[in-house]
This record gives sequence, C-alpha cells and structure tokens, in this order.
Amino acid sequence: MTSLDIAPIPAFADNYLWLLSRGARAVVVDPGDAAPVQAALAERGLQLEAILITHHHPDHIGGLAELLAARQVPVYGPRKEASSIRHLTDLLQDGDQVEVLGRRFEVIEVPGHTLGHIAYYSAATDGAATELHGPLLLCGDTLFSGGCGRLFEGTPEQMHASLGRLAALPGATQVYCTHEYTRSNLQFARVVEPGNAALAEYWVRVRALLADGLPTVPSSIEHELRINPFLRIDQPAVRQAVQDHSGQPIEAPAEVFAALRRWKDEFRPPAEP
Ligand SMILES: [Zn+2]
Repeated sequence: MTSLDIAPIPAFADNYLWLLSRGARAVVVDPGDAAPVQAALAERGLQLEAILITHHHPDHIGGLAELLAARQVPVYGPRKEASSIRHLTDLLQDGDQVEVLGRRFEVIEVPGHTLGHIAYYSAATDGAATELHGPLLLCGDTLFSGGCGRLFEGTPEQMHASLGRLAALPGATQVYCTHEYTRSNLQFARVVEPGNAALAEYWVRVRALLADGLPTVPSSIEHELRINPFLRIDQPAVRQAVQDHSGQPIEAPAEVFAALRRWKDEFRPPAEP
C-alpha cells in the first residue's frame, strides 16, 4: 500500500483545505471552496472518494454543493450540526469511527468554536511498514498553532475541556489546523509568555517560513504544549500574566482560560519592523 500524503490547499485569505491522498485516491477536509479543490484533484490526477467536515461555518462547507454536483461521495460530519449542513450523508458523534484511505479516524466532539464541532484523530497504524504517517489530528477551528478558535457558540469551559482532550493525545500527533493564524497567534503568545525560550525560537522559524511563502502547519501536540498559551493554563507564568492583565486573582483553570481568551479577543499586536 502506498503511503498517505497530506497537502494543504490554500483557500480564501488564510484557510487550508487539507487534501489527504493515497495513490490516486483522495479525501478532502472542510472544502469551503470547490474551485481550488477541483484544481488540486485534476492537477494531481486524484479521485475524490470522501469528504470530512468538522463544523458548519461557510468557509468549511461552502464548496460542498459544487463538489457533489460532479460526483457522489460520502460526506461525514457532526450529527449535532446536521440541520445547518446540507449534503451530510454520515452523521458522527463522539467515539464514532470512520475509515478513509485505509486509516481509521476516531471522532472527538470538541464544542467551543461551534457547539457541534468535531475533530478526527487517527492513531498510528499497526506498524504497516509502508505507512509514513504517524498519529494525526484534523481539528478544524479548535486548535491552531499558538492559539485556539474563537468562542462563537460555546462557553470557555467547553473550549477548555475540548482543548484538554486534544492536548492529551500522543505528543507526536501531527496537528492539521485549518487557518494560517500562527503569526498573529505568536504575537499574542509572546506578550503572555515573554520568557518562553521555545516560543522565541519558534517565532524566528515561523517568520522565516512565512517569508518563504511556506505554511507553518501542521504542528504537533508536543510542540503546542511548549508554545501555545491556551494549552499552558497550568503554567505559573501564564496564570500570572492573565492575573496581571485582568488585575484580579484568578485561579481556577477554566477561569484562567476564559480570561486569556477574552484578552486575545481584544489584543492588537504591536507594530513590528
Ligand atoms: Zn469556523
């Protein structure tokens, strides 16, 4: 069996539609726009055989009708958002499993950004010698490199718990985020944790990647645990920064998370050279 390939299809201003392929077979995640997906399939000679959806926002589902006009494939997505996503054929909830391209994905419900948001996690395969891809996570707008999704529908408690589940995945898990937000996320993270050496190092690397026109993702769980303040609520430096910013003592992790998310929502990055 040929190995799994995963490539970003850039769309809109800063979305990544992830294209998974094995040989000539392909799966696309969150096709907000059909045209770049059609182009990528044609260019690579790939046959689309399934679509995975994480949540109902238009920049994640806007291309469904056009993609399905040309072909009939299963469309997997969150049961809890079925009423706002036309075209879903397979409704998923926490603990469900989906098999595509020879990989099994487990569904993890991650409410916060939207209430029905789901993520897809695939553990490492059973040691198939040709499989180059270890554990991987398709997390939509829940976890970003250096940040997390905005709380459009859920509560801070929900998002904090959702991120906790993702943070508990194996460190080597590759994290496929759906937006190139790393730079602005790190501008904020550096204000929260100016003493974080791993973060300082990453900031240099991210700027170099972006200057070369390269994506900064996928990331990994172990990397995010080192640099992402939203996964570092339990770090004294993060808690202290949040307390200093809000001017009051905040101890409970979910409250630290809530205050950190509010701070990020209001944050305007300083001008940079
Ligand atoms: Zn979204």
